[in-house]
Amino acid sequence: MKEFDLIRRYFSEQSVNRKDVVKGIGDDCAILQLSEQHQLAVTTDTLVAGVHFPVDTCARAIGHKAIAVSLSDLAAMGAEPTWLSLAITLPSIDEAWVKDFCSGVFELCEYFNVQLIGGDTTQGPLSVTVTAQGYTPVNKHLSRDGAHAGDWLYVTGDVGDAALALQVVQGKVNVEEVYKETLQRKLDFPQPRVLVGQVLREYASAAIDISDGLAADLAHICIASNVGVNLILDNLPLSVVMRDSLSLDNAYKLALNGGDDYELLFTVCDDNKVAMETAIANTGVTITCIGQLNSSHKITTLLNGEHTYVDLQGFEHFS
Ligand code: ADP
Ligand code: MG
Repeated sequence: MKEFDLIRRYFSEQSVNRKDVVKGIGDDCAILQLSEQHQLAVTTDTLVAGVHFPVDTCARAIGHKAIAVSLSDLAAMGAEPTWLSLAITLPSIDEAWVKDFCSGVFELCEYFNVQLIGGDTTQGPLSVTVTAQGYTPVNKHLSRDGAHAGDWLYVTGDVGDAALALQVVQGKVNVEEVYKETLQRKLDFPQPRVLVGQVLREYASAAIDISDGLAADLAHICIASNVGVNLILDNLPLSVVMRDSLSLDNAYKLALNGGDDYELLFTVCDDNKVAMETAIANTGVTITCIGQLNSSHKITTLLNGEHTYVDLQGFEHFS
């Protein structure tokens, strides 16, 4: 059984159905109604050593990534991050390690003005669970299910670098020495697109963060919104490292199927396209239009204007 089937079958079905749960299980965050004026976005993510990061990853990177992953889910809902809870399981107490871990955590907290408000510390194999919360203006959050046929599909930043970095760590691919540090940083220190998410509240019809891979997360938007998409491979934003290190074919495959980029994938109706592009330009984050939605219920890939076949997969636990 796959991760999402398990969640659907055992955790999504419940007899309790509170009115203050605006959005429950099934998106990047839950949305809770606190009062008439306030809604809260909430997300929880776990990173396990050897699964979500190589066991020899430096402590500061693990701290950074644990927070970045959750902030990225808040970004995908257009939320303004406010509070974090941190549950950490450690094999033993190594103070130098914990100090470095905390520097990674608090760097991001300070940058986004997010406060650590609690958590839990236990002994066992290394794993980190973060619950992040943030505000959204009432019923203005982004979600996966608002896209329509005709909307344009965009992605922030470059895609595939984190997956390429992992392949380098695993010794599967080699890249030129000059690229190694920048590439490793993409895997270890992803930058959650928090500001972009908040700007997109005004313009986007749907959004998701790319944690499982562009193709898999695009499929989540398509299924939730009941649409299909023409994906223009020529437009995929590939970094110089990707282009210099891989054949174009392999670069596309990695950009579509590799996880851990934490970029935002979002859709915009034609009427909002220009205003959105102008607003996002002010954030300093690059965005690229990579396709258009349709009513086909399929992901079709185009290269040089022609249909092309790419094996689309995504990272799923238990698959
Ligand atoms: P993301 O990749 O955005 O972090 P996930 O794929 O981990 O999201 O989870 C998909 C949805 O299922 C989310 O709404 C999440 O809150 C929910 N979910 C995952 N595991 C559980 C669980 N054990 N109990 C309840 N809800 C869960
Ligand atoms: Mg997510």
